[in-house]
Amino acid sequence: MRAAVLHAPGDVRVEERPDPRIEQPTDAVIRLTATCVCGSDLWPYRGIEAINEPTQMGHEYVGVVEEVGSEVRTLAPGDFVVGSFVISDNTCEICRAGYQSRCVNGEFVSMTIGTQAEKARIPLADGTLVTTPDVPSDDLVPSLLTASDVLGTGWFAAVAADVQPGKTVAVVGDGAVGLLGVLAARQLGAERIIAFSRHESRQQLAREFGATDIVTTRGDEGVAEIKELTHGLGAHSVIEAVGTQESMMQAIRATRPGGHVGYVGVSHDVSLPGDELFFSAVHLHGGPAPVRRFLPELIDLITRRAIDPGKVFDLSLPLDQAAEGYRAMDERRAVKALLTV
Ligand SMILES: [Zn+2]
Repeated sequence: MRAAVLHAPGDVRVEERPDPRIEQPTDAVIRLTATCVCGSDLWPYRGIEAINEPTQMGHEYVGVVEEVGSEVRTLAPGDFVVGSFVISDNTCEICRAGYQSRCVNGEFVSMTIGTQAEKARIPLADGTLVTTPDVPSDDLVPSLLTASDVLGTGWFAAVAADVQPGKTVAVVGDGAVGLLGVLAARQLGAERIIAFSRHESRQQLAREFGATDIVTTRGDEGVAEIKELTHGLGAHSVIEAVGTQESMMQAIRATRPGGHVGYVGVSHDVSLPGDELFFSAVHLHGGPAPVRRFLPELIDLITRRAIDPGKVFDLSLPLDQAAEGYRAMDERRAVKALLTV
């Protein structure tokens, strides 16, 4: 099969890899319908995260089940499935509490599988994959694909930030996750949604997804604007979708005392000052999103066409042109690149 492989920073090649096979009785092999490039794929692409050997990339996926192991109960060949970017059994105590991204038997798809490929072996298939009611029409595929990570992550960020009807929400980060955090906040009933963004096309998408206000400054200046918009108090709920020291501090400082920060940007060298954290009196909750918790609800919203998160894809390429997808996202020419298989 063909798959996208990162050889060195900036060097993505689509090449032949061995076809995945059933290895455990709980595995499924799926044929990918679509996959995509994630903001987090750019960390190794830019050389900020080291890779030690050529690495098959990708962790977002939708596709059709081709074969299942002898112990798989809920899936059959021909089913259309959406899976989380973290493998989970969905039965352990951590999973049952809703934290499937930290399943005791969990593994990250990006580390061991790589779904920017024609096929993938999905371990713990019953716990990881969720079937759609029917094989979806082509126009629903991009939205279903977002549920695999970016939508599920934006949704978790909004839940972790305790977004509720009537609340004011601020969103730090105008990448795909931040934009879908806006969509999630809207769905969860937020009254006011303030998006930080300096890019016109992203501002427009944020408004389409439900942002009521746009703030174009960042850092302490951005925080001052949020305070101005909230009677000096700060937002009730702040979504952090970047993962840097600056964005995390911006999120904490934009939150009112007693408010909630939902952080989902993968942390890169973030270090929180204890004294400031202590006196901020904010709730901090986040981490790798337990997408599996939200998949049934998100699939339902998408197949009923209540939401259209697939709009975050502003570039669509065949898998063979994966390298161009990486380049376009690296150069911020694209918010998110979909790869058709
Ligand atoms: Zn588990």
